[in-house]
Amino acid sequence: EDITAIKLFEQELQKAKEAAESANQAKSDFLEGMSHEIRTPMNAIIGMAELMMETPLSDEQKRYVETLIHAGENLLNIINDILDISKIEAGYLELESTAFDLQELLDKACDIMAIRARDKGIGLACNVLPDVPVHLIGDPGRLRQIVLNLLGNAIKFTDSGEVVLEVNKETSDKTTLLFSIRDTGIGIPEDKVNRIFEKFTQADSSTTRRYGGTGLGLTISKRLVELMRGRIWVASTVGVGSTFYFTAGFQLQKEKP
Ligand code: ADP
Repeated sequence: EDITAIKLFEQELQKAKEAAESANQAKSDFLEGMSHEIRTPMNAIIGMAELMMETPLSDEQKRYVETLIHAGENLLNIINDILDISKIEAGYLELESTAFDLQELLDKACDIMAIRARDKGIGLACNVLPDVPVHLIGDPGRLRQIVLNLLGNAIKFTDSGEVVLEVNKETSDKTTLLFSIRDTGIGIPEDKVNRIFEKFTQADSSTTRRYGGTGLGLTISKRLVELMRGRIWVASTVGVGSTFYFTAGFQLQKEKP
């Protein structure tokens, strides 16, 4: 009788496990479908607005279309963040493994951000230290996402001074790199420092209104860094600035071009 009870229990357990797995799979399928369904029309909206900018428009119409493009890009970024978070939580996010040039990736990321820094009148510098290997294998798209997020935050929360990105070798291991992004911005209060990596958390709700953002960027970066076998942390002083650090593991390319 005892054995029958145990068998029944095991059967129930197996059923519950299968149900959970299939729910998870359904969630993943849903996300993949949604991500495509949302992005396609958004890209059409932004793309068409960009084409419209190249047609003869009055100054007034130009302002409207510019707003349309700007809002479209913002919305697409928010959607991408939400989809990323959902994918990460469904355990669905996997890293690519392709060859890339670290120097090239960082130069491009800094070029994109240079416009924003210049508009705010702050300096932006990117330094890859001489002994850092640049011919790497890893996920360049996701690394770019982390770097852009941290540079974007650094510029967003800095009103004067500079933002400096630096890449160093972790002394213990030559395929693990240490990235740092230093700013001379508003800083983060000590009691908030550990919470900013949590979902939807912003250091200060009044700053949120002033600076905008979803509070998802650092959460996504943290998970991506962990997938790269690294960690992320910050050292910050209110009114002086913040330095975000992260480590990430890569493989070295065998043939160096
Ligand atoms: P978002 O920037 O969209 O609010 P993040 O997850 O990227 O979301 O950042 C969370 C919060 O951490 C920010 O709202 C801000 O309060 C704080 N923060 C992030 N980076 C910096 C920085 N460089 N300087 C000051 N505060 C920062």
